[in-house]
Amino acid sequence: MIRLTEMINTKFSLQTMTQSLKHYDSINHHYSGSFMDRPIALMLILILLPCFLINIVLALCTKRSLFSLQHKIDALSRPVILHAFSCGIWVKTAVLFDIYFGKISFCGIPLTHRLSPDIQFCVMNQIKCKAGLFSLYDLHLKTGLTIMSKEQLLEQQLNGNAADYLALIIKSFMSVIFYGQEIKKPIKKPIKNNSLSLFGLNVKNTSMAEAVDWITHSQTQPNKTQIVFFINVHSINLSISDPKFFNQLSNANALFADGSGMRLAAKKAGFLLNGNNNGTDMLPHICRSCVEKNQSLYFFGAKPGIAQQAANALCNQFPGLNITGTEHGYNEDNNSEQIIESINNSGCDILLVAMGSPVQEKWLLDHRDKLQCKTALAVGGLFDFYSGNISRSPMWLREIGMEWMWRLLQEPRDKFNRYVIGNPIFLYRTFILGLVNTGEK
Ligand code: UDP
Repeated sequence: MIRLTEMINTKFSLQTMTQSLKHYDSINHHYSGSFMDRPIALMLILILLPCFLINIVLALCTKRSLFSLQHKIDALSRPVILHAFSCGIWVKTAVLFDIYFGKISFCGIPLTHRLSPDIQFCVMNQIKCKAGLFSLYDLHLKTGLTIMSKEQLLEQQLNGNAADYLALIIKSFMSVIFYGQEIKKPIKKPIKNNSLSLFGLNVKNTSMAEAVDWITHSQTQPNKTQIVFFINVHSINLSISDPKFFNQLSNANALFADGSGMRLAAKKAGFLLNGNNNGTDMLPHICRSCVEKNQSLYFFGAKPGIAQQAANALCNQFPGLNITGTEHGYNEDNNSEQIIESINNSGCDILLVAMGSPVQEKWLLDHRDKLQCKTALAVGGLFDFYSGNISRSPMWLREIGMEWMWRLLQEPRDKFNRYVIGNPIFLYRTFILGLVNTGEK
């Protein structure tokens, strides 16, 4: 068992760390799964042989050297040299030879960032592990998941068995196909205030921590409620077919990009989104921040009893959390005035409205002047998840940006149009019509 986070939490000095490491029976064991590297690399080399031959012929014809070398440093500060073909197609696949000859692994120590010296020391004393083309951290970075720290992810990866190793290779290949090969710096710079333009909307390009800080920071203009929306594939499709909804989205104080579809679209527009700022992942961070900053929440929406169940679950999870009231979202007699009075009387700082798009966005904008809370968020099916009435997709699906498939399986009738029809339409609008760049509708 590799232990990294335990050591960070107890803040060992190097000397005590060395002593404590002696107690772990796993010191210097090999990373499970790496025995699969050679056969998998060989299989891929054989499949890609025609492409390699083209690259070799091209190099010979243009009198270039066959390979170019890429110098990298892994997270443990070790130098790593990777091969790429100097010309031709899929030039980076030459790295398969590095894997075959045991220079690096498919999965191993990441090449995308550096660990702190104490963590490097812990890892090197506990396990023999090469640098890896893929890592769990890189996978989470590609899909914008920000639930675990890099140390937690490395610990989880290194403690995995051979099946986990194989699964990580498959998931990483899929994420390369879906999200491109490399994590690059943004090609374009955000326009202003950390915002960028997607489909004609100003979307905040923040990390999860920055988004939470923005929401829970008391930066409101006095007596004005800040309106926050999360925009995803569904809301973009709605905004393109309904100009009124587009205007409503434009009137928010902040729009956060939610989901892998927005990530893909941003990449097409030349931006790399800092995080997957979806409400479901964000809520625990908001709760933690509310406890720290002594701010309160109000839950409005979902079927009767659901918001209260979600509130109870979150209060159990975050001791000290103040949820000043809940109200369901099926008010047939349209008693919005009464609900607003109840929200205002509760004195909440942050209001979460969960009635689905576009109802929740319209409700918030129609009533923003009467609301007295600092911030109000439209959060979709959030209370259904936190009350336990709808389960969240398994991590492996989220790691490849396919959480929507889980929701489709759970509610096939309700979500058919949104996902089965909506997703291809979104891709067509993004990649064929190029609406992501221009915002033309
Ligand atoms: N809802 C509501 N009032 C309505 C219609 C829907 O409170 O009149 C709730 C519904 O019970 C669900 C949420 O709004 O909890 C919408 O969830 P959806 O799955 O559409 O949200 P998203 O996928 O956008 O997160």
